[in-house]
Amino acid sequence: MHNLFSLSLNFEMLFEKINGQEDVKKRLIQTVQDSRISHAQLFLGPEGNGKLALAIAYAQYINCKNKKNGDACGICPSCIKFNKLEHPDLHFIFPVAKTAEVKDKPSSKLFLNGWREFLLENNAYISLTGWYKKIGIENKQALIYTEDCNDIIRTLGYKSYESEYKVMIIWMVEKLYHAAAPKILKILEEPPEKTLFLLVAENQHQIINTILSRTQIVKIPKISDEAMKSALKQQEGISDAEIRRITTQSDGNFSKALQMIQHGEEEKDSFEEFRNWMRLCYAFKIVEINAFVSSIAKIGREKQKLFLQRAAGTLRKSILINYKLKELARIDDMEKDFMQKFHPFMNPQNGHEIGKEINDAIFHIERNANPSLVFMDLSLKLSALMHRGKAN
Ligand SMILES: [Zn+2]
Repeated sequence: MHNLFSLSLNFEMLFEKINGQEDVKKRLIQTVQDSRISHAQLFLGPEGNGKLALAIAYAQYINCKNKKNGDACGICPSCIKFNKLEHPDLHFIFPVAKTAEVKDKPSSKLFLNGWREFLLENNAYISLTGWYKKIGIENKQALIYTEDCNDIIRTLGYKSYESEYKVMIIWMVEKLYHAAAPKILKILEEPPEKTLFLLVAENQHQIINTILSRTQIVKIPKISDEAMKSALKQQEGISDAEIRRITTQSDGNFSKALQMIQHGEEEKDSFEEFRNWMRLCYAFKIVEINAFVSSIAKIGREKQKLFLQRAAGTLRKSILINYKLKELARIDDMEKDFMQKFHPFMNPQNGHEIGKEINDAIFHIERNANPSLVFMDLSLKLSALMHRGKAN
């Protein structure tokens, strides 16, 4: 696992740990120092800009028993509970749906463990699609239901347990079920004393007007390229070229940047496996080939297909090298070394046949053929074809 993800075990949502957004941080800190914390605020801005992280940091700062120099202390009893997202006066409401586990009346509290885990894993840089994936509803829509609106009223009816402020964070408030919204209008307008609503949203025009008009909007821009670069520099094992590429493509969205890093890791692992498999085929190590086949037979059809598609891509590039069309092949460092050894066994004839065999295998995987048979058959054919390539 990449260091980035193991880091998240030490969740510390302090202002200083949040990427960029210095102006927003200053303004938020100022509201606390001037004792003019508005009771219903809407943190509004594009995906992955850190608005949820800022909302949590703000709540932690407000409730910290030992504030210092414009940040929470991170170690007082209140901060320690915030670090685990288990403070009794920190409440989360977020979109949910019926799932395999929650078959009836979905509400945030039924998903709370998964939610905490999801936030801790991603340092609160999350996306709606990531959340859908986490709870296994990729083809469904999630909403904030009446059930949760009732919970908001119930929860805020009690006195705060131990802190200065009771904080209710509502993530993606644009997903609030319209018919449920009227329930919380009154409490949003006149909350009990020392209650703070922090609504978090991406699309202002999708938020119900009666909700919108009761909040003070805090606009939060995307993360600047400078801040993104310095955030990526702190991660281990990412080259300068990668940092530039991810900065450009993520466009100020740190949630997307995290996905790109993770995806890069997966690609590397997949490539390693492919390289190993090719070596086994060429050396015709039948016992090891057998072991490879039984392990890949277990990973599921989608992943098998992806593995073969990547393999076909790498092989295509090897053929291009043989055609001396180096400029056509975009080859990264990882592939370069492998190809220098591999491409002597490839020529236009067997290259074409190898490509055809892999495509046939993809075709069979898609049509539910037995993956063990498909991969064993393919291994033997590739082995024979590589040897023929060498002979030519
Ligand atoms: Zn503290």
